[in-house]
Amino acid sequence: MVTRRANPRNFFGRDEKDRIVHAIRQAEAKTSGEIRVYLERKAKGNLLGCAKKVFEKLGMTKTKLRNGVLIYFSLLDRQFAILGDQGIHDRVGDSFWHEVVSKIENRFVQNDFVGGLEAGIQEIGESLGKFFPRRSDDIDELSNEIQQ
Ligand code: CA
Ligand code: CA
Repeated sequence: MVTRRANPRNFFGRDEKDRIVHAIRQAEAKTSGEIRVYLERKAKGNLLGCAKKVFEKLGMTKTKLRNGVLIYFSLLDRQFAILGDQGIHDRVGDSFWHEVVSKIENRFVQNDFVGGLEAGIQEIGESLGKFFPRRSDDIDELSNEIQQ
């Protein structure tokens, strides 16, 4: 069992970060939507409120189709929130988010944080692909690197 420190820089090892970034790249191969993971030591106050602030701060409201999705992960308390931009809310229902959340939770409860993020990212990519298919002239509008 790996002991993890709630430090956004080294909570995940290099191989684990690679796996997460790879999952984002794979997911974005199916959709024009942009997916990002943000690591916080600990959310200060309301989780969703913190995620919203980060969403703005990272410039995630600036995608052309307003189809960015953020997985915000508060490391110390192992809590996460998923936030999608306006373009997504106009199209997908609540069931979409519940599905993604349960995919992640199923792994997180087993302390499989990389697997949880991978599963969530994959689910987001597949669902977004239906509403926002990737076009041949797609641009990677938001870097796939893990944010902190
Ligand atoms: Ca893109
Ligand atoms: Ca991207």
